[in-house]
Amino acid sequence: MTSLKVYVSRKAHFSAAHRLYHPSLSEAENLALFDKCSNANGHGHNYTVEVTVAGNPDPISGYVIDLKKLKRIIDEHFIQFVDHKNLNTDVPFLQGIIPTAENIVAACWLQIQPHINEGSLYCIRLYETENNFVEYKGE
Ligand SMILES: [Zn+2]
Repeated sequence: MTSLKVYVSRKAHFSAAHRLYHPSLSEAENLALFDKCSNANGHGHNYTVEVTVAGNPDPISGYVIDLKKLKRIIDEHFIQFVDHKNLNTDVPFLQGIIPTAENIVAACWLQIQPHINEGSLYCIRLYETENNFVEYKGE
């Protein structure tokens, strides 16, 4: 059974505010590019993040990775930094980065990947709304 490759996922949620705005563009250019997401005082989302780890089930535990451990890694290295925060100003690993879903998911990967020691991080999916989501696979 150890030659099986299984994909194990854990979901987490956070709420945060952001503003999509590039300082080198004028107000009008920012509005044209980002529309209402460039609103000067920001706006919020209820985000969902799904982290998938791939690997062979351990011959003894049967786990690819213990989901309690994966939950702890996601909470300690990502969620606690972003939940109820302003993503433009409050998050050390997002400094100088426009907090689009694309950039947030890539930053999430960099935060979590070094701590995955069982299996390997395969994919992170970030939902900004129910209908809009992005995926990053470390490429
Ligand atoms: Zn937004």
